Amino acid sequence: TTTASPVLTARHLHARYGGFTALHGVDLDVSPGRITAVVGPNGAGKSTLFHCLAGTLRPARGEVRLGGRDITALPAHARTRLGVARTFQQLAVFPSLTVAENVRVRAEQGRVTDPGAVERTLRLLGLDGPVRALPAAGLPTGTLRRVELARALAGAPRVLLLDEPAAGLDTAEVAALARVLKALAADGTALLVVEHDLDLVAGLADVVHVMTAGRIVTSGPPERVLDAMGPAAGR
Ligand code: ADP
Ligand code: MG
Repeated sequence: TTTASPVLTARHLHARYGGFTALHGVDLDVSPGRITAVVGPNGAGKSTLFHCLAGTLRPARGEVRLGGRDITALPAHARTRLGVARTFQQLAVFPSLTVAENVRVRAEQGRVTDPGAVERTLRLLGLDGPVRALPAAGLPTGTLRRVELARALAGAPRVLLLDEPAAGLDTAEVAALARVLKALAADGTALLVVEHDLDLVAGLADVVHVMTAGRIVTSGPPERVLDAMGPAAGR
């Protein structure tokens, strides 16, 4: 299961905000059928790396490739069309649209615009009941996070990028999220999870990269990497 070659790769990524360098030469592979996690303290550069992969931040140096193609200069919407989907840390659903409409609208921006994909996605995330017809405004955070994830999945992405997907979720919701993400990986999707909830990562990831001050300092299977981080990791 470790033989699939990476679909999304970052090489020597440097990112700057004005005079401040937030990434100092990051290399990362995201492979089909695997869940790759990036962990690290606040300010380590996890979201900056995420933005370079999603196309919302242009790296100062280095490159991002999708299926071998250099996409470093492509904006986020073009990457979405090529099959790179993401979720937003601040939820980005349309409040006046229903759950199903929110998913359908986003599906139309994705790689595959098959109406069946919308229904499958709603079912996968348990959004195919009466909640599908409710406006997104006023739904609980846990439900909105599922809508957000459904929106990302509705275009049948090759790569799914998730920044802090467990933020604001309770224990049961985190467990349900982990099941969905594992099912997606088993289906061949390449997943990247940027997360500071180490318990989620421990039970989920195939490989973990630890970032500190703009660099990946340790990589490996979660049992090895997270144990080595010890109590200082804040668990
Ligand atoms: P993480 O997601 O790991 O918490 P970030 O990627 O958000 O880290 O931030 C990495 C570093 O870059 C931090 O020092 C942060 O203060 C800085 N930073 C992030 N976004 C900006 C910005 N828009 N302008 C200036 N500095 C930023
Ligand atoms: Mg962040």
